[in-house]
Amino acid sequence: MKALVWQGVNRVGVETVPDPTILQPTDAIVRITSTAICGSDLHLLDGYIPTMVHGDILGHEFMGEVVEVGREVRKVKVGDRVIVPFPIACGHCWFCQHDLTSLCDNSNANAKLAEKMFGYAPSGIYGYSHLTGGYAGGQAQFARTLYADDNLFKIPGGLTDDQVLFLTDILPTGYMGALNCDIQAGDTVAVYGCGPVGLFTIMSAFLLGAGRVIAIDRFPYRLAKAAALGADPLNYEQEEVLEALKLRTGGRGPDSVVDAVGMESHGLGLGGLADAVKQTTRVLESDRPHALRSAIISVRKGGTVSVPGVFGGFGDKIPLGAFMNKALTMRTGQTHVHRFVPRLLEHIVKGEIDPTVIISHRLSLDEAPHGYHIFKHKEDHCVKCVLDPWAAPRQGNASGTSKAMGAD
Ligand SMILES: [Zn+2]
Ligand SMILES: [Zn+2]
Repeated sequence: MKALVWQGVNRVGVETVPDPTILQPTDAIVRITSTAICGSDLHLLDGYIPTMVHGDILGHEFMGEVVEVGREVRKVKVGDRVIVPFPIACGHCWFCQHDLTSLCDNSNANAKLAEKMFGYAPSGIYGYSHLTGGYAGGQAQFARTLYADDNLFKIPGGLTDDQVLFLTDILPTGYMGALNCDIQAGDTVAVYGCGPVGLFTIMSAFLLGAGRVIAIDRFPYRLAKAAALGADPLNYEQEEVLEALKLRTGGRGPDSVVDAVGMESHGLGLGGLADAVKQTTRVLESDRPHALRSAIISVRKGGTVSVPGVFGGFGDKIPLGAFMNKALTMRTGQTHVHRFVPRLLEHIVKGEIDPTVIISHRLSLDEAPHGYHIFKHKEDHCVKCVLDPWAAPRQGNASGTSKAMGAD
């Protein structure tokens, strides 16, 4: 089959690799009909998540049709159309039993490796380095999925792939990002980052009762997307964030601030430059936490900082003095996707959420390296690339291998 593989820092390419097979009796093989490139895939591309190996298949946002099941699979049937949550849940450990599926104790085959970094290991994740299990991802024509009965969600007929694909990650991630703000009716929520997760956080914040959402980014086309969802745009290259947020909230500050950017945020001034330089070493500082710092500083006293943005290692100069003295709450985590799929699916069916509005590009799998390039460099007004693993490439975009350059 064809698959998009990691070939080294800033290099991905489409290669022909062996088809996946059933390895455990609880596995299922999915023929992938739609898959997407995620912002967190860029952290892999850029080499900021350790333990990547040449040939690793990327992709953790995918869906398709079940074509084979292991002998212990009971609920999932061949022919079922399913979405596959990015964290892998065993379904029976303490964490899975408590709806904390991204913390599953059994699905990370390399738990020992992750324990060395984090103390305890998070769940396995498809296509997301050997730290999270080393499982082949879904930017491919087929994928092996684990614990099929506890992970694959059957999709009702009548919904398109585009409507449900993002239930695998970014829609629940934006939703959990908003939920973690503990929004009270009428609250003001500021959201750092108007990428796919930020946009879904904005939609979810309104759904959960926010009176106002202020969207912070530096790309006008992304701020325009946020404004179309009802948010007030704030361009941090034109306005100083803390002052602007004070001005817009009568001096009190937003009730919560969401960091939907994570480890590769862009900072202004010397602090931002120092982070960027240290991060290029991938040792001195693995994470560039500018948005997180600004969130802690700009949220109101007693407010909440919610962090759906991904971090992998260590960050410098987190303003702990502000965090403590302002009596803040911080909530974060990889998304417990399984917990949110049923209610979000209901919102989609009722037409209360339309996830398709964030799609900017539809590409064939062969064009995926081009998709990584435009997504990383914010070219061609790229917000979200959806890939069809079976489509023939259109002329011009099938670059085979992408050497993405420049951002770092
Ligand atoms: Zn993702
Ligand atoms: Zn589990």
